[in-house]
Amino acid sequence: MRRKLLPFWNERKAKVSMLVLHAVAFEPKEAIECFRKYEVSSHYLIAKDGEIWQLVGEKHRAWHAGVAKWREFKEDINSCSIGIELCSSDLGQTPFTSAQKKAATALLQKLVKKYKIKPENIVGHSDIAPTRKVDPGKAFFWQELANEGIGWWPRLEDADKIKEGKIEDLLQIIGYDTTDIQAAAYAFCRHFLPGKVKDETDVSKMEKTVYRADKKLLDDALFVATLRATAYKYLSASKTPCKI
Ligand SMILES: [Zn+2]
Repeated sequence: MRRKLLPFWNERKAKVSMLVLHAVAFEPKEAIECFRKYEVSSHYLIAKDGEIWQLVGEKHRAWHAGVAKWREFKEDINSCSIGIELCSSDLGQTPFTSAQKKAATALLQKLVKKYKIKPENIVGHSDIAPTRKVDPGKAFFWQELANEGIGWWPRLEDADKIKEGKIEDLLQIIGYDTTDIQAAAYAFCRHFLPGKVKDETDVSKMEKTVYRADKKLLDDALFVATLRATAYKYLSASKTPCKI
């Protein structure tokens, strides 16, 4: 682990209960320059070779989430989370390196244990800010992490266990802010159904234009089944009060 501590932090106002995964389109040195320029930060940065850089101490509040919401966390997610960036030239459109996966898995396992993080609170930046953010990208290895006990992954055969339910309700069960349902539905796909996410090649454009699900996607049978299966998983495992 390398340490390159940045001054962009303040005191936490809540205990750590979320892990937020990000992607940054630079290698560590350039990424740190970029953080300095915009006065932002994260706790950890994982290079393509798997080396982990610590930028902010875990006990401090880093500045990585911005305006974001998830489940009961309606404001100041920076106060209750640890932010982890992974270097990816195309913001997670193509696979992360196996060295990054290995390093991230070990780090996440350690943090989950240390802070008793619930699986439903291990999220991507796009999950908590669906109208603004696309990272860590559709190639992020959520399913592989779930296989290692980090976060959850749905089983499609559970889709029928929730018979009814509007898309908005199902997204809310998982944790999404549905102020913009189409943006939330697309963020859901980035995490759980990456095959439905368009290839985005222009990194500068990706950061400015966040796509939303169109009507065709919202009616797509595989999307609806995956959403139901995921809602069932979160509902049954996290004991979310059932609204359906
Ligand atoms: Zn981010």
